[in-house]
Amino acid sequence: MRDSYDLVIIGGGVIGTSILWNLKAQGFKGSVALLERGDALAEETSAKSAGAFRNLWGSRINMEMSTHSIRFLSTFEKDFAIPIGFHQHGYLFTFYPEPWEKIKSYKSTFDETGVRTELLSPDDIERMVPGLKAGVNHMEPDIVEFAEFQPMAGGLYGPDCGSFDPSAAAKGYIERTQREFADSAEVHLRIEVKRIEFEAGKAKGVELSNGRCIGAGGVILAAGPWSMQLLAASGFHDDENLPVDPIKRQLFITNPPDIPGYERIPLVIIDRGIYFKYETGNLQIGRADPEQGPGFEQEASLAYYKDEIGPYMQERIPGTEHCNVKSMWGGLYSVTRADHNGILGAHPAYDGLYLACGWSGHGAMVAPAASQALAELIVHGSYKTIDASPLRFERFAEDDLVVEEIVI
Ligand SMILES: Cc1cc2nc3c(=O)[nH]c(=O)nc-3n(C[C@H](O)[C@H](O)[C@H](O)COP(=O)(O)OP(=O)(O)OC[C@H]3O[C@@H](n4cnc5c(N)ncnc54)[C@H](O)[C@@H]3O)c2cc1C
Repeated sequence: MRDSYDLVIIGGGVIGTSILWNLKAQGFKGSVALLERGDALAEETSAKSAGAFRNLWGSRINMEMSTHSIRFLSTFEKDFAIPIGFHQHGYLFTFYPEPWEKIKSYKSTFDETGVRTELLSPDDIERMVPGLKAGVNHMEPDIVEFAEFQPMAGGLYGPDCGSFDPSAAAKGYIERTQREFADSAEVHLRIEVKRIEFEAGKAKGVELSNGRCIGAGGVILAAGPWSMQLLAASGFHDDENLPVDPIKRQLFITNPPDIPGYERIPLVIIDRGIYFKYETGNLQIGRADPEQGPGFEQEASLAYYKDEIGPYMQERIPGTEHCNVKSMWGGLYSVTRADHNGILGAHPAYDGLYLACGWSGHGAMVAPAASQALAELIVHGSYKTIDASPLRFERFAEDDLVVEEIVI
């Protein structure tokens, strides 16, 4: 490792690795080092992701970023010579009557922006998801009341949505970078950054846990849920740190129900935000626990599945009571408190510090667009492909949040 680089990227997840590639692909001539403390790239949040992508968003920035990313990912295997499991199986959001009225009003925006969508009736939903019962008449009335079930009024289906493997994409980004830019782009594993060093309001390098200091013309923070810790260790007070919390999210793998046709279902979002998709012969099921507080604990809990997911699944899709959990894991969302959207761009108060953090539940799917945008900003001085300024850090102080209505 050299004593200094023009740019240092902290974090080798799908965000950091894609930034490294994009800097070089955009023509950044200087030296760049990506520092990752793990034994391998993309083994943290990026590996724990469901890897789902959707272009169904209420906010323009999320819609643009995911649309661009989906297009990019669709040819990734050919462009980067690595399989990433890209599969456009579709996404189906189901809605109770009240939110459904609002969602229908987005249809014209989707049409105008070229995002393909279909509004589905309850019968259509039942045809698309075998065994699902859109109404509530098949349930016991006391269960309907206790669990606050309502009949599904409609569904929003996006045929271009799907999923991919973010860790494989991270590997693809790095392998191609090393093939094409080996002399000026370095990747260093098992290197932990202890803090970012500043001088006269400018980032000037990083201090490593082994005590070594590496100089840098600029520092890109892509350390996922640990980004806030790192800024705190670098001397940032709470009021100037990122307004982001690490929050545990869990995924469960079960056998599919004994109902024909599950291999053809889209990713489906049902009651209480429970979502599931077919995954190589199994079902992958998740639900963001609204009671989960901030913290770095990541252990998955079978009790959570049994209490908060399974019973609701089996009411909505009789037969799923025979879906047994085969494996499970937890990982950390980086949840931006105010609006659950990423923070991208130059830090307004510290020259040479760039932020790519706080992606909540959609960092994998926007990584291609977000990293390209940041590279454009650094290399060309402004955004070229997508105007990512709505994600600027300053939006919190300016109270100009990215309001997103379509969330799970
Ligand atoms: C259960 C779950 C399901 C999800 N599902 C989806 C989904 O379906 N679709 C989607 O788009 N997103 C999803 N996400 C979110 C998505 O996975 C993340 O937004 C994305 O992976 C963030 O990538 P990252 O590179 O910022 O973070 P990470 O992958 O966590 O990478 C950060 C890296 O920084 C390294 N690091 C940290 N501190 C230091 C340090 N001091 N020095 C050196 N290295 C350091 C870490 O080791 C890590 O490798 C999900 C997340 C979880 C947990």
